[in-house]
Amino acid sequence: MIRKLFQKRAKTESTTPVTPPATNKPTNSGVKSTGNQGAKRQGHRRKKSHPKKPAQPWSLTQFEVPELEGKTRFHDLDLQIDLMHGIADLGFEYCSPIQAQSLPQTLTGHDLIGKAQTGTGKTAAFLITIIQDLLNHKPEGERFAHEPRALIIAPTRELALQIAEDSESLNRYTGLKTHVLVGGMDYGKQQKRLNNEIVDILVATPGRLLDFSSNKDVYLDQIEIMVIDEGDRMLDMGFIPQVRRIIRLTPQKIHRQTLLFSATFTTDVLTLADQWTVDAKKVEIEPDSIATDTVKQHVYMCATDEKYTLLYNLLQQSDTDNVIVFANRRDQCRNLHEKLLRHGFKAGLLSGEIAQNRRVRTLDDFKSDKLDVLVATDVAGRGIHIDGISHVVNYTLPEEPEDYVHRIGRTGRAGKSGTSVSFACEEDAFHLIPIEQLLGKKIECEHPPQQLLVATPALGKPLPSAKRTPAQSKNGSKSSQSRHRSRGR
Ligand code: AMP
Repeated sequence: MIRKLFQKRAKTESTTPVTPPATNKPTNSGVKSTGNQGAKRQGHRRKKSHPKKPAQPWSLTQFEVPELEGKTRFHDLDLQIDLMHGIADLGFEYCSPIQAQSLPQTLTGHDLIGKAQTGTGKTAAFLITIIQDLLNHKPEGERFAHEPRALIIAPTRELALQIAEDSESLNRYTGLKTHVLVGGMDYGKQQKRLNNEIVDILVATPGRLLDFSSNKDVYLDQIEIMVIDEGDRMLDMGFIPQVRRIIRLTPQKIHRQTLLFSATFTTDVLTLADQWTVDAKKVEIEPDSIATDTVKQHVYMCATDEKYTLLYNLLQQSDTDNVIVFANRRDQCRNLHEKLLRHGFKAGLLSGEIAQNRRVRTLDDFKSDKLDVLVATDVAGRGIHIDGISHVVNYTLPEEPEDYVHRIGRTGRAGKSGTSVSFACEEDAFHLIPIEQLLGKKIECEHPPQQLLVATPALGKPLPSAKRTPAQSKNGSKSSQSRHRSRGR
């Protein structure tokens, strides 16, 4: 391991022997590779690293966090001051469990396999590792455009965009630049940004990243640290061959640091992790610690045809703020969304049949309070990382118990409390058993309160068909991502 930790910084070996005349190698670069990357990339302008934004005078005295038994403060991790400034602005005081367990390992250069769901703070865990690493090993001299130093791959565009947003927040004072490459958005715009700016941290979905790489618009052989996020979802969505191709474009595993996160550790995930990492440390955050700590869970026993009434009345309650309603199938979500619109709710729809750019717009509208309620399938709902969601409703109980944990993890985020309400009818109540097994505890089923059973008013007029038709991509086919989805989500 010592050898690896040293070499990781000392060499940037690639399957193609390349070294640009002006490279972004770390200062302790011990072994030079040969070749002429500069000639290969001569079409790309050389870039000077961006000068850091002049920081306001800031010191740790402006961010005092008392020591607490059993808690790790970010102050205890010897992080760079500009990074600490970003952390302070975000109001993060103590590490979440995944951060407390993983950062001491990853900050010293170890590879890591982390079992953690969204909502646990895993994004900040890997971003802090990356930022600290890049700041600690500043490149010398000129750098080329198109050569990121850190790479994060995520299965969905929503997740990639969210990670990039988090990265920009944490990098507010560091001068490090984050770029995002995702499908369903203008290639030219993404290419232009890459041409015009140095990229330090690249966040991408696999397909779009490979497009950029095969067009020689991005080179991955200078990657010092890479993160594969939601490994299990990558598998589910059939992205592993693409991820393999991407990994082959990066330096060998002994010369890069690799972190892999996954909500579950299946045999397949662990086999891949074994292939892509060296002596990885393993950190597991059990789902029940997320699910039960901050989310009040209700399960209402009801008849199938009472579900909509329950939902309608729940949405009328004053304590519901931003609400996400999950259903298992796209058609269920579509019908539910339409009904909510006809009842005058400001509702949005997120499912695999909605084009990606529309999904992003819907999420933005939800974040900016133009929408009060989102109806989503599990796959689409994965990308929802929004604080301040008061309620999650399981309109249908999920077939996979892990999805229950993902769903209710949309609320109760960042230490706040939230409520989940599940409707269990004769058709799906049996899904509760595996959920309880996963959580390791029983969830009490209740009769719904009377006020939730009050009859709903008559539905408004049917919507014009345009509003109901699932969005199609320009060529008339369903969005490319929907083709990868299983179980019609
Ligand atoms: P994630 O699991 O990465 O989606 O993060 C879940 C949420 O927790 C995000 O809104 C983060 O901004 C927030 N978060 C991450 N780390 C911390 C922390 N140490 N303290 C408070 N909030 C955090």
